[in-house]
Amino acid sequence: MFGVHFLGDGKISIDEIPTPKPNGKNVVVKVTAAGICGTDRHPLLEEGQKTIPGHEIAGKIVEVDKPSWARVGDRVAINCHITCRACEHCLNGDLYFCNQLQVPGYEWDGGFAEYLLIPEDNCHPLLDDISYETGALIVDVLGTAFRAVKRAGLKPGDQVAVWGAGPIGFEAAAVATFLGARVAVFDMNPYRQEMAAKYNHPELILDPTDKDTEAKILDWTSGRGIEVGFECVGNEKAAHQALKMIKKRGILAIIGVSHSLTVDPWEMIQRELTIYASRNFNTHEFNEMVSMIRKGLWAEKVVTHRYPLKDAEKAFEVFLSENCGKIILTGSC
Ligand SMILES: [Zn+2]
Ligand SMILES: [Zn+2]
Repeated sequence: MFGVHFLGDGKISIDEIPTPKPNGKNVVVKVTAAGICGTDRHPLLEEGQKTIPGHEIAGKIVEVDKPSWARVGDRVAINCHITCRACEHCLNGDLYFCNQLQVPGYEWDGGFAEYLLIPEDNCHPLLDDISYETGALIVDVLGTAFRAVKRAGLKPGDQVAVWGAGPIGFEAAAVATFLGARVAVFDMNPYRQEMAAKYNHPELILDPTDKDTEAKILDWTSGRGIEVGFECVGNEKAAHQALKMIKKRGILAIIGVSHSLTVDPWEMIQRELTIYASRNFNTHEFNEMVSMIRKGLWAEKVVTHRYPLKDAEKAFEVFLSENCGKIILTGSC
């Protein structure tokens, strides 16, 4: 089979590698959709990656050895947290907290290939009306955004703002809007502003570098400030901008990955602010997302580009340009 390798410095190769064989409860999945993730940027541009990258995967089970329940032909989305399945966190469905966590694309060969070897317990069966592509969104970009928004406990009519209209921010805005919140979106990139306008229909789309954004948000919220700011960029400036605009007892939800954020505790105390960080979805929430999609959540609108595996080079070029939403590699060469 063919699979992608990140060579570093933004270069990739498509190599012929052995097709995996099923063993025990590990099944072989033919990959039909694999999303390119924001977290792929670092290994792609910097040091490269030894394993096959790709962790936002859906496909069809094509070979099994001694499975408990998986059958050849099952359509599945892959939970990218390979874990012990026995510890407190695994039993609670918070797989990513497991001390024995392995992730396809990092410690395990991932989904930018024609086939994937994966424990059957990591396969979420897909209902017939849920596409592979939507499955690949649920297990990563939608799942991450969904949980972060759910934890905010939004009520219909709440005014919230999302920093970053990339794939995670797009899904956060979509879920918040679906739950009845009124949404403002911040992004500098005209492509992503347009994408948000076209599908998420936020009440405001703002460029965070404009001088009068704070005044606009105050005006929009009748002087109160927003209930929740969802920071989906991974940028300290965005977090600080959000903190300024959050109302008394408001919330800052951090979803974008960064490594520095200084906050003034006194400012937080005065306004009784809450800051929380959110990482990924709980396995029990898979069906909640499926149910929202069936009721009309437009999660799949985030996909703007699709490429067969043989055109992976082009796919990563577009990915790095940021003039895109979610890019899906369709798996077959
Ligand atoms: Zn991801
Ligand atoms: Zn565990």
